[in-house]
Amino acid sequence: MQENNKLDNYDVIIIGGGPAGVSAALYIVRGGRNVLLVHNGVSALHKAELIQNYYGTGEISGAALYDVGIEQARRVGACVVNAQVTFVEFDHGVFTVKTETGDYAARRLIIATGSPRKKADIEGIAELDGKGISYCAVCDAFFYRKKRVGVIGAGAFAEHEYYALKNVVGDAFLLTDGDSPSFEVDKDRVYTAKIARITERDGRVGGVEFEDGTSIPLDGVFIALGSMGSASMAKTLGILTDKSGDIKTDGYGRTNIGGLYAAGDCTVGIKQIGKAVVDGMNVAFGVIADIKEDK
Ligand SMILES: Cc1cc2nc3c(=O)[nH]c(=O)nc-3n(C[C@H](O)[C@H](O)[C@H](O)COP(=O)(O)OP(=O)(O)OC[C@H]3O[C@@H](n4cnc5c(N)ncnc54)[C@H](O)[C@@H]3O)c2cc1C
Repeated sequence: MQENNKLDNYDVIIIGGGPAGVSAALYIVRGGRNVLLVHNGVSALHKAELIQNYYGTGEISGAALYDVGIEQARRVGACVVNAQVTFVEFDHGVFTVKTETGDYAARRLIIATGSPRKKADIEGIAELDGKGISYCAVCDAFFYRKKRVGVIGAGAFAEHEYYALKNVVGDAFLLTDGDSPSFEVDKDRVYTAKIARITERDGRVGGVEFEDGTSIPLDGVFIALGSMGSASMAKTLGILTDKSGDIKTDGYGRTNIGGLYAAGDCTVGIKQIGKAVVDGMNVAFGVIADIKEDK
């Protein structure tokens, strides 16, 4: 843990500043608890040009609605941090949320990170899922000792996954699929060409072919595109999901892990603002009730 860990300053950490995360923050703060809300400013709302079907807003762009929500959370007293979460750990009842700018810890965590990350649209990923394709370096690095793996991605999440693998596996490479890496990595360990497909060998991942005709033999491929989403968090923490990767909760956002909650698009059900807001309210009631019971 880094020195700027702020354990117990916050009753709850919420990852996500969309309708679910903000709604949860409003109810929990107004229920007398300290909330840290971490968001990276990239929500499904930013893809919504015009919202017409949510109560009271008239016609509003998704981006504008997002900004109003973040400001509202701040005004009621939530501590709002704009940072990308790169990893989440759970140890002895404490959740540590690692971001690019520092770590935060609390005994209760709400995941409100939106719809699970779509699988990268690269030939071979779907076919080889579970046969050398992984979404969690910390979970699976051990299986690749003395083996060669590639991490697909170029941002902070890919950096976390690359370094988590580097000291455990035989050899780790970064495959940026046409992007420039956002972090320092040895030149002979980076492939920046666009990926054509992931190839198969004996029914498992065998390597990667690039659009420029070159290729690299690999035993495993870790997908770390974009930011750490609910799918990776679920795998890392052992949260139960349905077949499509949506987190299963009870009516109050509780997952199968004590102290860990989820709300909004990352959970089972309709992916709409109204449902996310209701989820946020329900998870807040769940958290407040659980805190009371513990005391
Ligand atoms: C094109 C489009 C149009 C839509 N139109 C409508 C509509 O008209 N009406 C309607 O009701 N719904 C609409 N929706 C759906 C609506 O946008 C979602 O249901 C809603 O935004 C879900 O809220 P949420 O809080 O669960 O997740 P999101 O709004 O997606 O918010 C996710 C939050 O998690 C944060 N986050 C995720 N990962 C990380 C990380 N690693 N580190 C830090 N922060 C992170 C993000 O910064 C963001 O704050 C639309 C969706 C799309 C894609």
